[in-house]
Amino acid sequence: MTSMFQLLIDGESREGSDRIAVDVVNPATGEAFGSVAFASKSDIDETIKVALGGLRSWQAVPPWERGRILKDAAQRLRADFVRIANVITREQGKPLREACIEIERSADFLEWGAEQARRISGRIVPARAPGQRIEVQPHPIGVVAAFTPWNFSMALAAKKFAGALGAGCAIICKPSQETPGSVIEMAKALLEAGVHPAAIAVVFGDANDVSTQLINAPQVAKITFTGSIPIGKRLAAAAGAAMKPVTMELGGHAPVIVCGDVDPEATAELLVHAKFMNAGQICLCPSRFFVEAGIAQRFTARFVELANALRVGDGTDQQTQMGPLANERRVDAIARLVDDARARGATILAGGKRLDRRGNFYSPTVLIDVPDEAAILREEPFGPVAPILPFNDEKSMLERANGLEFGLSSYVFTHDGARQRRLVDALQYGVVGVNGGLTHQPEAPLGGWKESGIDTEGGIEILDPYQITKHVNLQ
Ligand code: NAD
Repeated sequence: MTSMFQLLIDGESREGSDRIAVDVVNPATGEAFGSVAFASKSDIDETIKVALGGLRSWQAVPPWERGRILKDAAQRLRADFVRIANVITREQGKPLREACIEIERSADFLEWGAEQARRISGRIVPARAPGQRIEVQPHPIGVVAAFTPWNFSMALAAKKFAGALGAGCAIICKPSQETPGSVIEMAKALLEAGVHPAAIAVVFGDANDVSTQLINAPQVAKITFTGSIPIGKRLAAAAGAAMKPVTMELGGHAPVIVCGDVDPEATAELLVHAKFMNAGQICLCPSRFFVEAGIAQRFTARFVELANALRVGDGTDQQTQMGPLANERRVDAIARLVDDARARGATILAGGKRLDRRGNFYSPTVLIDVPDEAAILREEPFGPVAPILPFNDEKSMLERANGLEFGLSSYVFTHDGARQRRLVDALQYGVVGVNGGLTHQPEAPLGGWKESGIDTEGGIEILDPYQITKHVNLQ
């Protein structure tokens, strides 16, 4: 059955006025199963106009009621998770089990935004002069333009919808056209729950044209993006030229430091799971494995054994542990990184090849003897490849771990309290996982240091990127 993913503007699903649509492909088969409508310039103009009206209506809804509506939407996602998980897996490839977790996490984010909406408050600052009063008022910033990626197409959009709608903003979301269904599902749940129809829009189109038009529109007040560093820099520069604030959640290249005192086999088991979840297409994903030399051989042997044993296949098959990569670009990118490492002398202990079947499959891959000049140690891999790098000297290892422009996530494995503290303190990253894997839970903020981003998402601060302060000075 073919699906038509349409634009969602003012509560109505419709084609683009130029009648342009592009294929949506199932990454497990390589076959198109539907098409997604592209918005024309005039469609985007209209979307912006509608959103401005939506902003006026939605910000007038009391925060307590906005919170009730967002919670209702979260419940709708949970109540329909089996059907929606199939939507996610068909367009993105991840195993159904992981799609279910993504829906649960998306609902968590909407609920968290709902709860924080109910806690919006300003403050009164004691003034210097008698009779004077200073008020600090938070206001919704305005119409938000959100650009969201294909790897966690629902959850990464949910963070932005939760913050923007909780704060009382209208949001225009341009998801990746490769995974259109998941954001549409979430937007529909929000509309059915009672969000003002003009306060939500989902549009697809030529990424450059749509982002340029939205960023430059005077009615759009805030830009939020999750994706790669090069695109983030481009959007942030355009937003800067228009003097608009940005939230940027960008890529990472996470060092994992495994110290000699841990159980090498148990740690390898935990890290194989973290590495190959969503076929490695996770911004927090462990991607450079610094393992202390004394346990490196045992760690590597178990890691390779488990990587080789992973059942790779169509995400709709209940037996599947790792699905396809989300698109052909990623398969090409991973093949290039592995070939480059091999040409520079790396040894491939597992995988290292495309799978000989239809769909975007690349085998879980483990590399050793990777020289520092190899591209895979400098570029974000965003795929199922694990370079294992034994180390003896902590200081020089830390220099390598901190030596890139990335600063999103990092990991430390040791039970030595003093060493744990020292390593956590030394890592120049926005998030550090200690003795475990990482996911983003709404109750804590998450954001990248260095080139990995600007601002955070989640935590009690979840509404902050979508609020603007008015200082009222009463004499
Ligand atoms: P890409 O750089 O072409 O695109 C990254 C994302 O930005 C995609 O979702 C894309 O739809 C969107 N995009 C592209 N051009 C845009 C524009 N002009 N305006 C607005 N949005 C635009 O790379 P890709 O091949 O799609 O993805 C691979 C890279 O993206 C990876 O290397 C990884 O770094 C990064 N990525 C990061 C995250 C994250 O969660 N931080 C998520 C997805 C992708």
